[in-house]
Amino acid sequence: MNAINTGKTSYNRLGAFMLADIYRFTYINDVYGFDIGDELLKAVGRRLKDIFRPTDIIGRVASDTFGIILTDLKDKEDIIIILDRLREAFEQPFNINGNVISVAMQIGIAIFPDNGTSAKEVYKNADISLAKAKKGIEWNYVFFSDDLNSRASQFLLYKTNLEKAFEKEEFVIYYQPYFDIKTLEIVGFEALTRWKSKELGFVPPMHFIPILEESGLISKLESWLINQACKDLDYLYRIKLFARMSIPVSINISPISFKNENVYEKVVNIVSKYKKTDLSSCINIEITESLFLENFETALFTLNKLKSSDFKISIDDFGTGYSSFSYIKDLPIDYIKIDISFVRHILDDKKSKSIAKTIIELARNLEMKTIAEGVETKEQFEVLKSLGCDIVQGFWLARPMPIDELIDFLENWEHKKLNYY
Ligand code: C2E
Ligand code: CA
Ligand code: CA
Repeated sequence: MNAINTGKTSYNRLGAFMLADIYRFTYINDVYGFDIGDELLKAVGRRLKDIFRPTDIIGRVASDTFGIILTDLKDKEDIIIILDRLREAFEQPFNINGNVISVAMQIGIAIFPDNGTSAKEVYKNADISLAKAKKGIEWNYVFFSDDLNSRASQFLLYKTNLEKAFEKEEFVIYYQPYFDIKTLEIVGFEALTRWKSKELGFVPPMHFIPILEESGLISKLESWLINQACKDLDYLYRIKLFARMSIPVSINISPISFKNENVYEKVVNIVSKYKKTDLSSCINIEITESLFLENFETALFTLNKLKSSDFKISIDDFGTGYSSFSYIKDLPIDYIKIDISFVRHILDDKKSKSIAKTIIELARNLEMKTIAEGVETKEQFEVLKSLGCDIVQGFWLARPMPIDELIDFLENWEHKKLNYY
């Protein structure tokens, strides 16, 4: 309980208190007897300790109820993801002296400081939520706040539908052109995934990418995307539409993929199917700074291998995560993407403008190029041009579009670009 109080005072960060009750534990006790019941409780405690971080606190607060304190959370969504991981970890039944026993839980959750600032208040509110959870089915969890309850049910709904989205071929690539800031020539385009769900309608990437990352399905999506983008590129090559592009297609690879699989092998395997067109020099891999947080050496190794096989590499959303000058000089980076948040305020906020300027100068000194994302107006474009930015992407010049529209766009751009001078 002290952790809740310190959570409030010393970190002033978000935390959660969960009361997790084993579903129908009395029934388990009746069937297997108290000794097995006791052993099961200990095993459940051990499994919980494996799932949570060492800084989280786990204890028994009543015979079959565990209290779990999560401190220092970044985001409320994190709790939903942790709960999902918890449920998955319990899919494997327990084996207690030869008895195979499945365990489900019902959980009440209160977050702090939102649902209370004292330990007593947070506990009381988690307990109220637990009482509601116990009225429902197994693996039921109830938050004290209604908005989190609806976010949790949305997460589950999306996750269930995402698992089927691959077979149902519901993913589509939209391509958004990159333009040379001086000549307005198209230098390439970014492949952005769209999910057109029959059940849920159009779901934006910021709502489903994190779920794919959490469930490990992101690697599958990226394999699909690289394959599809190569097919599209091959087609564009055959109809002679990307002759002068310096970075034909940019692909986003999640840091989770770098952690879970050999990204180098995967990309090379797919691309090598297109020997005739030699697509590796046509692909730009976009990564984010968070890739370097966990294992810098491994990330660097993979990037160097990609680089030596002729792939281009960009750092995306630059300046929003862990930007450190000490690491960037050692990376085989070709492009730095100036995050949309700086571009959005480049006209009305001096600080955003000077950050953009600094990034452009940094890139130039390191012999890298800059791509500004989210350019929505001519005025933003002009400021970026005056600062020496190299490439722009944004709704002012072109929105993301499906391949057939992209082909039209490429064919008509020479003529259409005259309207932008
Ligand atoms: P991102 O990589 O930073 O992609 C750029 C985002 O900015 C895209 O959002 C694009 O539609 C949007 N954008 C471009 N120009 C403008 C503009 O002028 N104004 C505004 N307001 N937005 C603009 P989108 O397509 O919704 O994608 C969001 C994020 O989802 C991407 O951010 C990327 O991080 C992720 N994502 C999308 N597809 C994939 C994928 O296949 N794999 C992975 N790992 N992530 C993906
Ligand atoms: Ca990107
Ligand atoms: Ca970005």
